[in-house]
Amino acid sequence: MSDSQSITILGSTGSVGQSTLAVIEANPQYRVFALTAHSNTQLLLEQCVHYQPDYAVLSSGEGASELAEQLRQAECRTELLTGADALEEVARAEEVDIVMAAIVGAAGLASSLAAVQAGKKVLLANKEALVMSGELFMAAAQHSKATIIPIDSEHNAIFQCLPESRTGVAQDQLRQVEKIVLTGSGGPFLNTPTQHLASVTPEQACRHPKWSMGRKISVDSATMMNKGLEYIEACFLFSVAPGRVEVLIHPQSIVHSMVHYVDGSVLAQMANPDMRVPIAHGLAWPSRIGSGVNFLDLAAEGPLEFTHPDMDRFPCLALGMAAASAGGGAPIALNAANEVAVQAFLDGRLEFIRIADLIGEVVEKIPCEAPSSLAIIQDCDLRARILAKELIIKQFH
Ligand code: NAD
Ligand code: MG
Repeated sequence: MSDSQSITILGSTGSVGQSTLAVIEANPQYRVFALTAHSNTQLLLEQCVHYQPDYAVLSSGEGASELAEQLRQAECRTELLTGADALEEVARAEEVDIVMAAIVGAAGLASSLAAVQAGKKVLLANKEALVMSGELFMAAAQHSKATIIPIDSEHNAIFQCLPESRTGVAQDQLRQVEKIVLTGSGGPFLNTPTQHLASVTPEQACRHPKWSMGRKISVDSATMMNKGLEYIEACFLFSVAPGRVEVLIHPQSIVHSMVHYVDGSVLAQMANPDMRVPIAHGLAWPSRIGSGVNFLDLAAEGPLEFTHPDMDRFPCLALGMAAASAGGGAPIALNAANEVAVQAFLDGRLEFIRIADLIGEVVEKIPCEAPSSLAIIQDCDLRARILAKELIIKQFH
Protein backbone atom coordinates (compact mmCIF):
# COMPACT_ATOMS: atom_id res chain seq x y z
CA MET A 1 0.00 0.00 0.00
CA SER A 2 1.31 3.48 -0.82
CA ASP A 3 1.95 6.02 1.92
CA SER A 4 -1.11 8.06 1.03
CA GLN A 5 -4.49 6.34 1.32
CA SER A 6 -7.76 7.51 -0.19
CA ILE A 7 -10.89 7.46 1.90
CA THR A 8 -14.60 7.78 1.27
CA ILE A 9 -16.60 8.94 4.28
CA LEU A 10 -20.23 7.88 4.01
CA GLY A 11 -22.13 10.22 6.33
CA SER A 12 -19.38 12.84 6.70
CA THR A 13 -21.74 15.44 8.18
CA GLY A 14 -22.73 13.23 11.11
CA SER A 15 -21.12 12.85 14.51
CA VAL A 16 -18.83 9.95 13.50
CA GLY A 17 -18.19 11.54 10.09
CA GLN A 18 -17.01 14.78 11.67
CA SER A 19 -14.82 12.93 14.18
CA THR A 20 -13.28 11.03 11.25
CA LEU A 21 -12.40 14.29 9.52
CA ALA A 22 -10.90 15.58 12.77
CA VAL A 23 -8.54 12.57 12.89
CA ILE A 24 -7.68 12.96 9.20
CA GLU A 25 -6.94 16.65 9.72
CA ALA A 26 -4.11 15.67 12.08
CA ASN A 27 -2.90 12.81 9.84
CA PRO A 28 -2.38 14.12 6.31
CA GLN A 29 -1.40 10.70 4.92
CA TYR A 30 -5.15 10.15 4.41
CA ARG A 31 -6.61 11.80 1.32
CA VAL A 32 -10.34 12.42 1.14
CA PHE A 33 -11.79 10.93 -2.05
CA ALA A 34 -15.51 11.42 -1.34
CA LEU A 35 -17.79 12.90 1.30
CA THR A 36 -21.53 12.27 1.59
CA ALA A 37 -24.47 13.91 3.32
CA HIS A 38 -28.20 13.38 3.16
CA SER A 39 -29.44 16.94 3.49
CA ASN A 40 -26.99 19.17 5.38
CA THR A 41 -25.80 21.11 2.35
CA GLN A 42 -24.16 23.87 4.39
CA LEU A 43 -21.81 21.54 6.25
CA LEU A 44 -21.14 19.46 3.14
CA LEU A 45 -20.12 22.66 1.33
CA GLU A 46 -17.74 23.67 4.13
CA GLN A 47 -16.22 20.19 4.21
CA CYS A 48 -15.72 20.18 0.42
CA VAL A 49 -14.05 23.58 0.43
CA HIS A 50 -11.74 22.48 3.22
CA TYR A 51 -10.87 18.92 2.12
CA GLN A 52 -11.26 19.27 -1.67
CA PRO A 53 -12.52 15.70 -2.25
CA ASP A 54 -12.95 14.39 -5.80
CA TYR A 55 -16.65 13.76 -5.17
CA ALA A 56 -19.42 14.83 -2.86
CA VAL A 57 -22.77 13.04 -2.70
CA LEU A 58 -25.99 14.69 -1.60
CA SER A 59 -28.19 11.62 -1.27
CA SER A 60 -31.56 13.38 -0.86
CA GLY A 61 -30.82 15.54 -3.90
CA GLU A 62 -32.63 18.45 -2.23
CA GLY A 63 -30.82 21.74 -2.78
CA ALA A 64 -28.34 20.12 -5.17
CA SER A 65 -28.35 22.84 -7.83
CA GLU A 66 -27.72 25.58 -5.21
CA LEU A 67 -24.92 23.51 -3.69
CA ALA A 68 -23.33 22.91 -7.11
CA GLU A 69 -23.43 26.67 -7.73
CA GLN A 70 -21.86 27.40 -4.32
CA LEU A 71 -19.08 24.87 -5.02
CA ARG A 72 -18.37 26.60 -8.35
CA GLN A 73 -18.29 30.02 -6.72
CA ALA A 74 -15.87 28.74 -4.09
CA GLU A 75 -13.67 27.39 -6.92
CA CYS A 76 -13.93 23.94 -5.36
CA ARG A 77 -12.79 21.07 -7.60
CA THR A 78 -15.34 18.63 -6.12
CA GLU A 79 -17.86 17.02 -8.46
CA LEU A 80 -21.35 16.82 -6.91
CA LEU A 81 -23.40 13.64 -7.33
CA THR A 82 -26.94 13.03 -6.07
CA GLY A 83 -29.15 10.10 -5.09
CA ALA A 84 -28.69 6.89 -3.12
CA ASP A 85 -26.98 5.04 -6.01
CA ALA A 86 -24.13 7.55 -5.92
CA LEU A 87 -23.37 6.44 -2.32
CA GLU A 88 -22.60 2.97 -3.65
CA GLU A 89 -20.49 4.39 -6.50
CA VAL A 90 -18.19 6.36 -4.19
CA ALA A 91 -18.02 3.36 -1.82
CA ARG A 92 -16.79 0.94 -4.47
CA ALA A 93 -14.71 3.32 -6.63
CA GLU A 94 -11.39 1.88 -7.79
CA GLU A 95 -9.39 4.80 -6.34
CA VAL A 96 -10.65 4.18 -2.78
CA ASP A 97 -8.63 2.25 -0.19
CA ILE A 98 -10.71 2.90 2.95
CA VAL A 99 -14.45 3.44 3.42
CA MET A 100 -15.81 4.87 6.65
CA ALA A 101 -19.42 3.59 6.85
CA ALA A 102 -21.02 6.21 9.11
CA ILE A 103 -24.52 6.67 7.73
CA VAL A 104 -27.16 6.12 10.41
CA GLY A 105 -29.67 3.30 10.12
CA ALA A 106 -30.87 1.05 7.31
CA ALA A 107 -30.18 3.91 4.87
CA GLY A 108 -26.51 2.90 5.07
CA LEU A 109 -26.95 -0.78 4.24
CA ALA A 110 -26.52 -0.75 0.45
CA SER A 111 -23.45 1.50 0.46
CA SER A 112 -21.76 -0.29 3.39
CA LEU A 113 -22.35 -3.60 1.63
CA ALA A 114 -21.06 -2.17 -1.66
CA ALA A 115 -17.79 -1.21 0.09
CA VAL A 116 -17.49 -4.72 1.50
CA GLN A 117 -18.27 -6.37 -1.84
CA ALA A 118 -15.59 -4.21 -3.48
CA GLY A 119 -13.00 -5.58 -1.03
CA LYS A 120 -12.24 -2.28 0.71
CA LYS A 121 -10.90 -1.73 4.17
CA VAL A 122 -14.25 -0.90 5.75
CA LEU A 123 -14.42 1.03 9.01
CA LEU A 124 -17.87 0.02 10.19
CA ALA A 125 -19.79 2.46 12.39
CA ASN A 126 -23.17 1.79 10.74
CA LYS A 127 -24.18 -1.03 13.10
CA GLU A 128 -27.73 -1.23 11.72
CA ALA A 129 -26.34 -2.45 8.37
CA LEU A 130 -24.69 -5.39 10.08
CA VAL A 131 -27.69 -6.14 12.31
CA MET A 132 -29.89 -6.35 9.20
CA SER A 133 -27.60 -8.36 6.97
CA GLY A 134 -25.08 -10.01 9.32
CA GLU A 135 -24.35 -13.33 7.62
CA LEU A 136 -24.60 -11.88 4.12
CA PHE A 137 -22.32 -9.01 5.11
CA MET A 138 -19.64 -11.19 6.68
CA ALA A 139 -19.80 -13.72 3.82
CA ALA A 140 -19.36 -10.88 1.31
CA ALA A 141 -16.26 -9.73 3.20
CA GLN A 142 -14.82 -13.22 3.18
CA HIS A 143 -15.46 -13.55 -0.53
CA SER A 144 -14.00 -10.16 -1.51
CA LYS A 145 -11.21 -10.22 1.11
CA ALA A 146 -12.51 -6.95 2.52
CA THR A 147 -11.21 -6.05 5.97
CA ILE A 148 -13.95 -5.02 8.37
CA ILE A 149 -12.74 -2.99 11.32
CA PRO A 150 -15.44 -2.21 13.87
CA ILE A 151 -15.64 1.44 14.87
CA ASP A 152 -18.40 1.02 17.43
CA SER A 153 -16.23 1.57 20.53
CA GLU A 154 -17.19 -1.73 22.21
CA HIS A 155 -16.52 -3.85 19.14
CA ASN A 156 -13.35 -1.96 18.40
CA ALA A 157 -12.29 -2.79 21.97
CA ILE A 158 -13.12 -6.49 21.48
CA PHE A 159 -11.27 -6.48 18.16
CA GLN A 160 -8.21 -5.14 19.98
CA CYS A 161 -8.51 -7.77 22.75
CA LEU A 162 -9.08 -10.89 20.60
CA PRO A 163 -6.20 -13.34 20.02
CA GLU A 164 -5.70 -12.22 16.44
CA SER A 165 -7.31 -8.85 16.04
CA ARG A 166 -9.69 -9.53 13.22
CA THR A 167 -13.36 -9.88 12.40
CA GLY A 168 -14.94 -13.03 11.01
CA VAL A 169 -12.75 -15.07 13.39
CA ALA A 170 -12.95 -18.81 12.82
CA GLN A 171 -14.66 -20.76 15.60
CA ASP A 172 -11.56 -22.82 16.44
CA GLN A 173 -9.64 -19.68 17.29
CA LEU A 174 -12.47 -18.68 19.58
CA ARG A 175 -12.00 -21.85 21.63
CA GLN A 176 -9.51 -19.89 23.70
CA VAL A 177 -12.22 -17.34 24.40
CA GLU A 178 -14.63 -18.05 27.24
CA LYS A 179 -16.90 -15.06 26.70
CA ILE A 180 -17.10 -11.51 25.46
CA VAL A 181 -18.31 -8.75 27.77
CA LEU A 182 -19.93 -5.70 26.21
CA THR A 183 -19.93 -2.70 28.50
CA GLY A 184 -22.54 0.05 28.37
CA SER A 185 -22.85 3.28 30.33
CA GLY A 186 -26.57 2.74 31.01
CA GLY A 187 -27.34 6.08 29.35
CA PRO A 188 -29.06 9.12 30.82
CA PHE A 189 -31.83 7.17 32.60
CA LEU A 190 -29.76 4.60 34.48
CA ASN A 191 -30.96 5.89 37.85
CA THR A 192 -34.14 7.77 36.88
CA PRO A 193 -37.14 6.58 38.93
CA THR A 194 -39.08 4.34 36.53
CA GLN A 195 -42.35 6.25 37.09
CA HIS A 196 -40.68 9.30 35.50
CA LEU A 197 -39.72 7.49 32.31
CA ALA A 198 -43.20 7.90 30.78
CA SER A 199 -42.77 11.65 30.53
CA VAL A 200 -39.15 12.00 29.41
CA THR A 201 -38.58 14.30 26.45
CA PRO A 202 -36.37 13.80 23.37
CA GLU A 203 -34.01 16.48 24.74
CA GLN A 204 -33.57 14.55 28.00
CA ALA A 205 -33.09 11.27 26.14
CA CYS A 206 -30.45 12.81 23.85
CA ARG A 207 -28.42 14.25 26.74
CA HIS A 208 -26.00 11.36 27.12
CA PRO A 209 -23.78 11.58 30.19
CA LYS A 210 -20.59 10.34 28.48
CA TRP A 211 -20.86 10.44 24.69
CA SER A 212 -21.81 13.14 22.22
CA MET A 213 -23.61 11.41 19.32
CA GLY A 214 -26.34 11.72 16.69
CA ARG A 215 -29.95 11.77 17.92
CA LYS A 216 -30.96 8.27 16.84
CA ILE A 217 -28.12 6.48 18.63
CA SER A 218 -28.60 8.78 21.64
CA VAL A 219 -32.20 7.58 22.03
CA ASP A 220 -31.00 4.00 21.47
CA SER A 221 -28.55 4.52 24.33
CA ALA A 222 -31.32 5.81 26.58
CA THR A 223 -33.50 2.72 25.92
CA MET A 224 -30.39 0.50 25.79
CA MET A 225 -31.57 -0.79 22.41
CA ASN A 226 -28.12 0.40 21.40
CA LYS A 227 -26.65 -2.39 23.55
CA GLY A 228 -29.22 -4.81 22.10
CA LEU A 229 -28.11 -3.92 18.57
CA GLU A 230 -24.49 -4.17 19.68
CA TYR A 231 -25.14 -7.63 21.09
CA ILE A 232 -26.31 -8.79 17.64
CA GLU A 233 -23.43 -6.89 16.03
CA ALA A 234 -20.88 -8.71 18.24
CA CYS A 235 -22.30 -12.14 17.36
CA PHE A 236 -22.03 -11.48 13.62
CA LEU A 237 -18.69 -9.67 13.66
CA PHE A 238 -16.81 -12.23 15.71
CA SER A 239 -18.94 -15.30 14.88
CA VAL A 240 -19.76 -16.06 18.50
CA ALA A 241 -22.93 -17.71 19.76
CA PRO A 242 -25.24 -15.31 21.65
CA GLY A 243 -24.78 -17.30 24.88
CA ARG A 244 -21.13 -16.27 24.96
CA VAL A 245 -21.79 -12.53 25.01
CA GLU A 246 -22.64 -10.74 28.24
CA VAL A 247 -23.57 -7.11 28.99
CA LEU A 248 -22.30 -5.15 31.99
CA ILE A 249 -23.24 -1.63 32.99
CA HIS A 250 -20.16 0.53 33.43
CA PRO A 251 -21.24 4.15 33.96
CA GLN A 252 -17.75 5.66 33.62
CA SER A 253 -17.34 4.47 29.99
CA ILE A 254 -13.60 3.92 30.40
CA VAL A 255 -13.46 0.15 29.83
CA HIS A 256 -14.96 -0.18 26.36
CA SER A 257 -15.37 -3.99 26.46
CA MET A 258 -13.54 -7.14 27.50
CA VAL A 259 -12.59 -10.62 26.36
CA HIS A 260 -12.46 -13.44 28.93
CA TYR A 261 -10.10 -16.30 28.11
CA VAL A 262 -10.39 -19.93 29.22
CA ASP A 263 -7.38 -19.59 31.57
CA GLY A 264 -9.15 -16.87 33.54
CA SER A 265 -7.32 -13.95 31.93
CA VAL A 266 -9.44 -10.96 30.99
CA LEU A 267 -8.23 -8.44 28.41
CA ALA A 268 -9.93 -5.03 28.40
CA GLN A 269 -9.41 -1.98 26.23
CA MET A 270 -9.56 1.40 27.97
CA ALA A 271 -9.63 4.97 26.69
CA ASN A 272 -11.40 8.23 27.32
CA PRO A 273 -14.89 8.05 25.79
CA ASP A 274 -14.24 9.77 22.46
CA MET A 275 -14.93 8.21 19.05
CA ARG A 276 -11.67 9.56 17.66
CA VAL A 277 -9.88 6.72 19.50
CA PRO A 278 -11.55 3.81 17.65
CA ILE A 279 -11.55 5.85 14.43
CA ALA A 280 -7.79 6.45 14.62
CA HIS A 281 -7.28 2.79 15.50
CA GLY A 282 -9.34 1.68 12.50
CA LEU A 283 -7.66 4.07 10.08
CA ALA A 284 -4.12 3.05 11.01
CA TRP A 285 -4.65 -0.62 11.82
CA PRO A 286 -2.44 -2.63 12.19
CA SER A 287 -0.31 0.43 12.97
CA ARG A 288 -1.18 3.30 15.35
CA ILE A 289 -1.55 7.06 14.84
CA GLY A 290 -2.43 9.96 17.12
CA SER A 291 -6.16 10.53 17.65
CA GLY A 292 -6.01 13.98 19.28
CA VAL A 293 -7.75 12.56 22.38
CA ASN A 294 -6.28 13.27 25.84
CA PHE A 295 -4.43 10.38 27.40
CA LEU A 296 -6.34 8.51 30.06
CA ASP A 297 -5.52 9.54 33.63
CA LEU A 298 -6.80 6.61 35.67
CA ALA A 299 -5.72 8.13 38.99
CA ALA A 300 -7.97 11.12 38.28
CA GLU A 301 -10.93 8.95 37.20
CA GLY A 302 -12.08 7.62 40.53
CA PRO A 303 -13.67 4.20 40.92
CA LEU A 304 -14.70 2.16 37.89
CA GLU A 305 -18.02 0.40 38.55
CA PHE A 306 -19.56 -2.67 36.91
CA THR A 307 -23.07 -4.01 37.52
CA HIS A 308 -25.55 -6.31 35.78
CA PRO A 309 -28.21 -4.52 33.70
CA ASP A 310 -31.76 -4.29 35.08
CA MET A 311 -33.82 -5.94 32.34
CA ASP A 312 -37.10 -4.54 33.70
CA ARG A 313 -35.77 -1.02 33.33
CA PHE A 314 -34.32 -1.76 29.89
CA PRO A 315 -36.75 -4.06 28.00
CA CYS A 316 -35.19 -3.01 24.68
CA LEU A 317 -31.95 -4.68 25.73
CA ALA A 318 -33.86 -7.89 26.41
CA LEU A 319 -35.55 -7.62 22.99
CA GLY A 320 -32.18 -7.20 21.28
CA MET A 321 -30.69 -10.19 23.06
CA ALA A 322 -33.76 -12.30 22.23
CA ALA A 323 -33.50 -11.33 18.55
CA ALA A 324 -29.84 -12.39 18.55
CA SER A 325 -30.87 -15.83 19.85
CA ALA A 326 -33.87 -16.13 17.51
CA GLY A 327 -31.76 -15.26 14.44
CA GLY A 328 -33.32 -15.38 10.97
CA GLY A 329 -35.26 -12.23 10.24
CA ALA A 330 -35.77 -11.21 13.88
CA PRO A 331 -32.88 -8.69 13.96
CA ILE A 332 -34.21 -7.07 10.76
CA ALA A 333 -37.72 -6.61 12.15
CA LEU A 334 -36.28 -5.42 15.46
CA ASN A 335 -34.08 -2.83 13.79
CA ALA A 336 -36.80 -1.57 11.45
CA ALA A 337 -39.37 -1.24 14.26
CA ASN A 338 -36.80 0.52 16.40
CA GLU A 339 -35.96 3.06 13.70
CA VAL A 340 -39.66 3.86 13.26
CA ALA A 341 -40.28 4.01 17.02
CA VAL A 342 -37.28 6.25 17.71
CA GLN A 343 -38.31 8.68 14.97
CA ALA A 344 -41.87 8.75 16.36
CA PHE A 345 -40.50 9.43 19.85
CA LEU A 346 -38.27 12.23 18.53
CA ASP A 347 -41.30 13.69 16.71
CA GLY A 348 -43.43 13.57 19.87
CA ARG A 349 -45.76 10.85 18.53
CA LEU A 350 -44.72 8.03 20.87
CA GLU A 351 -43.95 7.91 24.58
CA PHE A 352 -40.50 6.77 25.57
CA ILE A 353 -41.79 3.75 27.50
CA ARG A 354 -43.91 2.58 24.55
CA ILE A 355 -40.86 2.15 22.28
CA ALA A 356 -40.17 -1.35 23.64
CA ASP A 357 -43.86 -2.41 23.45
CA LEU A 358 -44.02 -1.40 19.83
CA ILE A 359 -40.83 -3.21 18.86
CA GLY A 360 -41.87 -6.36 20.73
CA GLU A 361 -45.18 -6.46 18.89
CA VAL A 362 -43.60 -5.96 15.47
CA VAL A 363 -40.96 -8.66 16.02
CA GLU A 364 -43.67 -11.07 17.09
CA LYS A 365 -45.94 -10.39 14.11
CA ILE A 366 -43.43 -10.16 11.26
CA PRO A 367 -42.13 -13.58 10.28
CA CYS A 368 -39.18 -13.27 7.92
CA GLU A 369 -37.54 -16.00 5.92
CA ALA A 370 -33.81 -16.56 6.32
CA PRO A 371 -32.17 -13.32 5.18
CA SER A 372 -30.16 -14.83 2.36
CA SER A 373 -30.37 -11.95 -0.13
CA LEU A 374 -30.54 -8.18 -0.01
CA ALA A 375 -34.03 -8.35 -1.57
CA ILE A 376 -35.32 -10.58 1.25
CA ILE A 377 -33.75 -8.30 3.86
CA GLN A 378 -35.27 -5.19 2.32
CA ASP A 379 -38.69 -6.85 2.05
CA CYS A 380 -38.63 -7.85 5.75
CA ASP A 381 -37.44 -4.35 6.71
CA LEU A 382 -40.24 -2.74 4.72
CA ARG A 383 -42.98 -4.97 6.15
CA ALA A 384 -41.79 -4.29 9.69
CA ARG A 385 -41.76 -0.54 9.07
CA ILE A 386 -45.28 -0.57 7.65
CA LEU A 387 -46.62 -2.51 10.64
CA ALA A 388 -44.77 -0.27 13.12
CA LYS A 389 -46.24 2.86 11.54
CA GLU A 390 -49.73 1.33 11.51
CA LEU A 391 -49.43 0.39 15.18
CA ILE A 392 -48.38 3.89 16.13
CA ILE A 393 -51.36 5.39 14.33
CA LYS A 394 -53.83 2.81 15.72
CA GLN A 395 -52.70 2.52 19.30
CA PHE A 396 -51.28 5.83 20.12
CA HIS A 397 -53.68 8.28 18.44
P1 NAD B 1 -25.63 11.27 12.81
O1 NAD B 1 -27.10 11.35 12.84
O2 NAD B 1 -24.83 12.27 13.55
O3 NAD B 1 -25.13 11.28 11.29
C1 NAD B 1 -25.70 10.47 10.34
C2 NAD B 1 -25.08 10.66 8.96
O4 NAD B 1 -25.84 9.85 8.05
C3 NAD B 1 -25.15 12.10 8.45
O5 NAD B 1 -23.98 12.39 7.69
C4 NAD B 1 -26.36 12.06 7.51
O6 NAD B 1 -26.24 12.96 6.42
C5 NAD B 1 -26.34 10.64 6.99
N1 NAD B 1 -27.69 10.17 6.66
C6 NAD B 1 -28.80 10.24 7.45
N2 NAD B 1 -29.87 9.73 6.80
C7 NAD B 1 -29.42 9.35 5.58
C8 NAD B 1 -30.06 8.77 4.45
N3 NAD B 1 -31.38 8.49 4.43
N4 NAD B 1 -29.30 8.50 3.36
C9 NAD B 1 -27.97 8.78 3.35
N5 NAD B 1 -27.31 9.35 4.39
C10 NAD B 1 -28.04 9.62 5.49
O7 NAD B 1 -25.24 9.78 13.29
P2 NAD B 1 -23.94 9.30 14.08
O8 NAD B 1 -24.14 9.49 15.53
O9 NAD B 1 -22.72 9.83 13.42
O10 NAD B 1 -24.02 7.73 13.81
C11 NAD B 1 -23.69 7.16 12.57
C12 NAD B 1 -23.63 5.64 12.70
O11 NAD B 1 -22.54 5.32 13.57
C13 NAD B 1 -24.88 5.02 13.34
O12 NAD B 1 -25.12 3.78 12.76
C14 NAD B 1 -24.50 4.85 14.80
O13 NAD B 1 -25.18 3.80 15.41
C15 NAD B 1 -23.01 4.54 14.68
N6 NAD B 1 -22.24 4.91 15.87
C16 NAD B 1 -22.18 6.20 16.26
C17 NAD B 1 -21.45 6.56 17.41
C18 NAD B 1 -21.34 8.00 17.84
O14 NAD B 1 -20.60 8.28 18.78
N7 NAD B 1 -22.03 8.93 17.24
C19 NAD B 1 -20.82 5.55 18.15
C20 NAD B 1 -20.91 4.23 17.71
C21 NAD B 1 -21.61 3.92 16.57
MG1 MG C 1 -21.13 1.51 20.98
